[in-house]
Amino acid sequence: MAAPWRDVVRDAAAVRDAAAVAVDAALLAGVLMRTGEQPLSSDVVNYAPFTLLPSAVPRALFEQAYAVQQDFNLLVDAISQNKEFLEQTLASTIKVDDFTARLFRIYMQVLEEGLAQTVFLGINRSDYMFDCGLDGTAALKQIEINTIAASFGGLTSRTADVHRLVLKVLGKTKEASRLLPNNPAKGLALGIAKAWELYGSQSAVVMFLVEEIQRNIFDQRCVENELWNRNIRVIRRRFRDVFEKGSLDGSRRLYIDNQEVAVVYYREGYVPQTYDQQNWEARLLLERSRAVKCPDIATQLAGTKKVQQELSRPGTLEKLLPGRPEAVARMRATFAGLYSLDEGEEGDKIAATAIADPERFVLKPQREGGGNNLYGEELRQVLQKIKDSPERTSYILMDKIKPQPALNYLLRAHSPLQVSECISELGIFGVYVRQGQEMVLNEAAGHLLRTKAIQHADGGVAAGVAVLDTPYLV
Ligand code: ADP
Ligand code: MG
Repeated sequence: MAAPWRDVVRDAAAVRDAAAVAVDAALLAGVLMRTGEQPLSSDVVNYAPFTLLPSAVPRALFEQAYAVQQDFNLLVDAISQNKEFLEQTLASTIKVDDFTARLFRIYMQVLEEGLAQTVFLGINRSDYMFDCGLDGTAALKQIEINTIAASFGGLTSRTADVHRLVLKVLGKTKEASRLLPNNPAKGLALGIAKAWELYGSQSAVVMFLVEEIQRNIFDQRCVENELWNRNIRVIRRRFRDVFEKGSLDGSRRLYIDNQEVAVVYYREGYVPQTYDQQNWEARLLLERSRAVKCPDIATQLAGTKKVQQELSRPGTLEKLLPGRPEAVARMRATFAGLYSLDEGEEGDKIAATAIADPERFVLKPQREGGGNNLYGEELRQVLQKIKDSPERTSYILMDKIKPQPALNYLLRAHSPLQVSECISELGIFGVYVRQGQEMVLNEAAGHLLRTKAIQHADGGVAAGVAVLDTPYLV
C-alpha cells in the first residue's frame, strides 16, 4: 500500500512539533477518555490514544466497505428473525459455552411468551482488514460484525479535524483538505431517534445501559448529546439499577424511576463477567419489555462468531436473503476463510491443519471485546489440548488476515514518542430501524479506523492496544 508520509515520518523535529499540536487539538476537540485510575469521575481526563498521522486506505476498498453495509444490515436483521437458523447454528455451541447458552435461554423464553417489542433498532459495526495478497494487491476482508455496544462512533467523529490540523502543521495542506468528514455519532443518534419516535410516547426516555467502569463515557456522550439536541431525554443506568428499580406494567411497558423507557441502548452486556444472577434477571426483564432494545437478544446472538462462521458456508446467505443475489455476492466477496470446529470429520481435519500450521489461522472463542483470540504457538497448544474434547466446539477457526504494515506514531498519554510498524482495521457503522415487517431506515452511518502496532495480534482501543485513526484515501 502507498506510504504517503514517507518524507516526514522520520523527521524527528517535525514529528515532535506535530505531536504536541496533535495532543492539544485532540483535547480541544473532545477526543477524551477518563483515566484508568479514576474511571468514575470526569475530574481527571486524558486524550484517547490516536495516531499522529492518518493511515493510507485504498479508496476502492473503503468504497466497497460502504457499499456492502446496507446488505449486512439486512442480513443481521434477517438472522435475528430466523429462529430455525439461530437454533441450528448455535446448537453445538450452547452445549459447551455457558454464556451463549444463557443468552439463548432468554431468547427462547421471550419468544415463547411472545414479543411485546414491535419496533427494532440495529446499530452494528462491520470491521475489516486489508489482506495483502502475494502480488501485493490488497483485498477487503471482514473480521467480524459487532451487533452490540459497537463503540467509538462518538470519538471518531472528532478525529478527522485533529488529523487535518496535524497535516497542515507538517506542510501538507493539500492532503489535509482531502480528509473526509465523518460523523457516526449523528447517524447512530438518528437511528435511536427514529426508534424513539416510532415507539410513540413523547414522554418516554432513551436509556443508555452502561457499564460499572465508565472510562469511555465521552464516546457515549457524543451520541447522548445528539439526542438531547433533538429534545429526546436520555438517562444512564446500569444493570444493577434495572434490577433494583425496573418494572413492567400490564402491557409490558418498561419503567425505571417512574420514567417510561422507549429505547434501551446497550453499551454493556456482551461479556460474561457483567452478569451475576441479578443482572441476568435484569436482562430478562428488559428483553421481555415492549421497549426497543438495541440490540434485542436475537440480534446479539446474530453477532456471535459461530453465526459468522456458518454464514460463510455455501448456500447459507442465499437461504437467509432469498432473491438478493447481488447483495449475497457483495457480502461473500468480503469473507475470509472460516471453519467449524464442531465434532466430526470436517472439524478433525481443520484442527489438524491448524495444529500443523498455526500461523495461517486465528482461533476464536464466542467472546467480544478484544483480547480473547489465540494465535501462533498458543493457538497450537490450546487446539492440541482440546482437539478430542467437546470444548473444541466453543471455538471457530478463521484464516489470518495479513495486512501490509506502515510506519506511524501511536500517541498515548505518558508514553514515549516512537515510530511503530502499524496495521489498521476499518469499521463501518450500520444503522437500521424496522417496524413490524417494514424496514423504515437502513443506512451506513460513518466509519472508524483503528490502528495498532504489528506486535499486538489482538485487542481494540478500549483494551489499550489499538488507537483511533483517520483514513487517508489513496
Ligand atoms: P472481538 O469480538 O474480541 O473484537 P475480533 O474478531 O474482532 O474479536 O478480533 C479481535 C482483534 O483480533 C481484531 O480487532 C483484529 O485485530 C484481530 N483479528 C481478529 N481476526 C483476525 C484475523 N482473521 N486475522 C488477523 N487478525 C485478526
Ligand atoms: Mg472486534
